Amino acid sequence: MSAQTRVVENVPKGIYVAGEWREARGGGSFAVEDPGAGRALCDVADGQAEDAAAALDAAVGVQPDWAATPPRERGEILRRAWQLMTDRVEDLALLMTLEMGKSLAESRTEVLYAAEFLRWFSEEAVRIEGRYAANPSGGSRLLTMKQPVGPCLLITPWNFPLAMGTRKIGPAVAAGCTMVVKPAQLTPLSMLALTGLLAEAGLPPGVLNVVPSSSAGKTVGPLMSDPRLRKVSFTGSTPVGKGLMEQAAENLLRVSMELGGNAPFLVFDDADLDEAVDGAVIAKMRNNGESCVAANRFHIAGAVAEEFAARLAERLGAMKVGHGAAEGTQVGPLIDGDQRDKVAELVDDAVDRGATVLTGGSAVEGDGYFFTPTVLADVPRSARILTEEVFGPVAPITTFGSEDEALALANGTEFGLVAYVYTQDLRRALRVAESLETGMVGLNTGLVSNAAAPFGGVKASGFGREGGVEGIEEYLSTKYVAVSIG
Ligand code: ADP
Repeated sequence: MSAQTRVVENVPKGIYVAGEWREARGGGSFAVEDPGAGRALCDVADGQAEDAAAALDAAVGVQPDWAATPPRERGEILRRAWQLMTDRVEDLALLMTLEMGKSLAESRTEVLYAAEFLRWFSEEAVRIEGRYAANPSGGSRLLTMKQPVGPCLLITPWNFPLAMGTRKIGPAVAAGCTMVVKPAQLTPLSMLALTGLLAEAGLPPGVLNVVPSSSAGKTVGPLMSDPRLRKVSFTGSTPVGKGLMEQAAENLLRVSMELGGNAPFLVFDDADLDEAVDGAVIAKMRNNGESCVAANRFHIAGAVAEEFAARLAERLGAMKVGHGAAEGTQVGPLIDGDQRDKVAELVDDAVDRGATVLTGGSAVEGDGYFFTPTVLADVPRSARILTEEVFGPVAPITTFGSEDEALALANGTEFGLVAYVYTQDLRRALRVAESLETGMVGLNTGLVSNAAAPFGGVKASGFGREGGVEGIEEYLSTKYVAVSIG
């Protein structure tokens, strides 16, 4: 049996409720596809509203016991799961590449990054603290304590099938919350593998319940209106996030939203150009460009723009495109035909308006959903690619004159997730970092993601933070006790 067949066969394909794998109500299933080959890999149980309800029943049932489980025990489960994930990096990476497309090297990096959230939150589980303070006017004491929010609904996207799960599951487990997870329809296999692994690590039945489904609305809708649910954490597109916010209003759920981005990549004329090009390759090409923190548009100081564009085109033009599991592949396929068509449409729109193609510029014929790494120079301000999230391997370049102009361009978007800034001038670096309307800034680096740091956005990119000491707060509520001591 090939390794590919083995890893797909070994994944549980059911609904996971109360510690058991089940068929979906009605016995239906949906196909999961390999986007690098355009063929089906396997079928997965197609969760229905009844399955989602059973999952929430299980989560609600064990919530009190789980909240009362010692933090150290909760943390050690996460620590064991981190160990299992790192031990099994090769199989998990291959599975991820098969369902999502990214190269094996990138999948390995994601598995380890995803595991890091489990390790980080295993350490945070034992640092949930309260306060004891004197009443400023005397006579009593003010006691605050942090308690688990309660049963959570966690909805994850397809682009980072493991990391977007562990950055929610890790803090929820650490905080003492139970949960129902709805993985992305396009990439449920990695989450199902993670589910089995967490059970092996000792997570008690009912704490984590997983409902893959071909219809998010059908499963998520009833959960959102169930008064027993206390929180929703969502990573995905801004329009779907807004819809969930409206639904969350009904029961006043706690909400964390990690939504779309339109990251600017600013290079000032005092930047180290070698470092800026290296950073641009990472910020643009990581995950085939299918990342909410991908550099979406490059604003380059006029004096260095031509050289930057030529060097970036050389680097992207030399990248090897192919099936993610093939030897030497650096750029895999896009997730599906719709995504490839959207990338092509945005490139065509820019070219029609006068942009110059320095490298790439088109989809690749044949099986799978490939698009060649592309650099566009002289992109006019009116081009759609500067305002819409491209989610593909395309780098549009425009120029700026002054620092004020660079900032106006960077902030001229409804989104506010991350911005990248290259400059060697310390004062400028801090001035610009302070003025950017984003939740994160990459300063002379093209990579911000880190389990120990608070990931998240402002404006239409959402709110709430994942990772860092902030990450667990999303799953805790504060109770205040007024204490009379007199
Ligand atoms: P993307 O496709 O870019 O990941 P989506 O917002 O479409 O962004 O999907 C992110 C996650 O949200 C997926 O798990 C998807 O199934 C889920 N989802 C999509 N539509 C809805 C909806 N109406 N209600 C709840 N979840 C949804």
